[in-house]
Amino acid sequence: MLAVTDGISQPDLLLDGNISPHLFQVKPSHIRAVSDAEVVVWAGEGIERFLPSMVENQNKDPVMISMADHVGIELRARDKHSDHDHGELDYHLWLDPQNAIQFATLLASELSAIDPSNADQYQHNAADFTVGVQAATEKIKAALSTAVGQQYLIYHDSLQYLENAFGLGEAIIVAPQPQVQAGGKRLRALHNTLAEQQIGCLISEPQFQSPVVNSIAHDLGVQPVMIDPLAVAFEPGADLYADWLLDLATTLADCFAATKSHD
Ligand SMILES: [Zn+2]
Repeated sequence: MLAVTDGISQPDLLLDGNISPHLFQVKPSHIRAVSDAEVVVWAGEGIERFLPSMVENQNKDPVMISMADHVGIELRARDKHSDHDHGELDYHLWLDPQNAIQFATLLASELSAIDPSNADQYQHNAADFTVGVQAATEKIKAALSTAVGQQYLIYHDSLQYLENAFGLGEAIIVAPQPQVQAGGKRLRALHNTLAEQQIGCLISEPQFQSPVVNSIAHDLGVQPVMIDPLAVAFEPGADLYADWLLDLATTLADCFAATKSHD
């Protein structure tokens, strides 16, 4: 949420670059960053499980602002995939642009209360962010309009909020627990599901190098499509979120379009 602090302060990114919150390992530099912080902004304990104990062990008592605890953002659950690592609820909240807008607005008022001299700037930034994300949302709706109701395969269950926001079909999940590799039996079951339901959009994630997705794609004669769920290719800054989400959605739209041309 660098958009909200734009022109005021430069937050430290704890999970910089290519680090998945599911696989994160705490290093001394992370401890230092947390011990210096007055405010910690995070998604929530269902996904950044390492964070509460890092904060507890500090002398300082930073203000914790969690996206998941924000009233008005409702956590979703998969009926069939309740064995997902994050518990029964899905914490990939930021994949719904409306959640990002709500959270930016909340963050602006929380930061304004802590740092009143910059209140106007926080509010201005949140308003700019909202305009940018709404514009991106309209483009995404257009890009995904032909993909409504279409299912896809993905390594771990991370796009549920995007699915719901834009009317995509439900994901077929390779690894309900992202740290546990899928075995041969699951591979065969997935292969059959995809073939029977004629699902041809297969998504791979760079943080989870799984031969399973590639193997199924090879069997079905389709090319898996790589997404950038952690925005590794984007420069951190005020425009990152809208640019990244639009790019992700465009990649998905290409994936579904490629599926159709195979029919
Ligand atoms: Zn995840």
